[in-house]
Amino acid sequence: MAKTAIIEAHGGPEQFRIVDREVGEPGPGEIRIRHEACGLNYIDVYQRTGLYKMDLPHALGMEAAGVVEAVGEGVTHLKPGDRAAYAANPPGSYCAARVMPAAQVCPLPDGISTDEGAAMMLQGMTVQYLFRRTTPIAKGDTVLFHAAAGGVGLIACQWAASEGITLIGTAGTDDKCQLALEHGATHCINYRTENFVERVKEITGGTGVDVVMDAVGADTFDGSLDSLRPLGFMISFGNASGPVPPFQLTTLAAKGSLKITRPTLFTHLAKHETCQQMARELFEKVESGAVKIRIDQRFPLEDVAEAHRALEARKTTGSTILVP
Ligand code: NDP
Repeated sequence: MAKTAIIEAHGGPEQFRIVDREVGEPGPGEIRIRHEACGLNYIDVYQRTGLYKMDLPHALGMEAAGVVEAVGEGVTHLKPGDRAAYAANPPGSYCAARVMPAAQVCPLPDGISTDEGAAMMLQGMTVQYLFRRTTPIAKGDTVLFHAAAGGVGLIACQWAASEGITLIGTAGTDDKCQLALEHGATHCINYRTENFVERVKEITGGTGVDVVMDAVGADTFDGSLDSLRPLGFMISFGNASGPVPPFQLTTLAAKGSLKITRPTLFTHLAKHETCQQMARELFEKVESGAVKIRIDQRFPLEDVAEAHRALEARKTTGSTILVP
């Protein structure tokens, strides 16, 4: 049996219930893993509220790390006793142990702790695909990155700095801006007190940035387009302030032949080999010291509702883990 956080209906954090669930044995292509820590991510909020729908009741959570207990037929990259971590479908990582598909579970190198693994797989592989797999971004390019002091944000700040990319961050308080600067952002704009479009224009000498990475969504979308240089690239990858409303495609022409994509990590890591390669690149960044994983909040799994409240209230910085 394994302690598991489930929801039976979409809604607020009060929907969480902790139950004991049968874990069972892994079938072909599956493993059984005992979790030491589970990662908290904003996608969990979308799944809880029903912005991203799922059949209920369902356990939530897309990320965790722990020790492999058993492997099913055909699994060759993991064995019992291995420390491993993952960001993967199906949801259900908020638990002490589970059986799940093995393909996206990655062996953890010695230099990375299990807690770090749980805190970084989803946010870190997201940064990997944003910088390496979405549009060419080279040393000297300038990126605007919203919510730069968050989980994805602090990893992005460090990743950009390690590659000579200028990152202009935004964040909701001066303290968060300071944190982003300490993690490698070249500039950081408090977008609650300053007009970020005007500040970006000032910083870039009127030109605009090459790429915007925007997961704040509704509140920032228009300003993000206005912050791009002609032919610039908009990556809209989340909705922390609400989904982006429908817009006219001709807007992209009017604002300077802009390009736009709306990606999700789970397309990028769908293939086993690609996922393992993305994880290895992330692990190299962390083991080299270029990227440090900040776990600023830890909650017992039983307090998952409190953890969700803190994330939605913009009270967290860096990564958050739940301890089962
Ligand atoms: P964060 O730790 O970044 O938390 C979200 C942050 O968004 C808040 O701390 C807050 O920072 C900012 N924010 C702005 N407006 C709001 C609002 N109205 N309500 C709540 N927060 C707001 O979360 P994650 O690192 O887990 O994820 C960051 C974003 O990236 C999310 O939108 C997530 O969905 C997206 N994402 C997308 C992926 C993809 O592949 N498409 C994969 C991974 C993450 P501040 O106070 O500084 O404004």
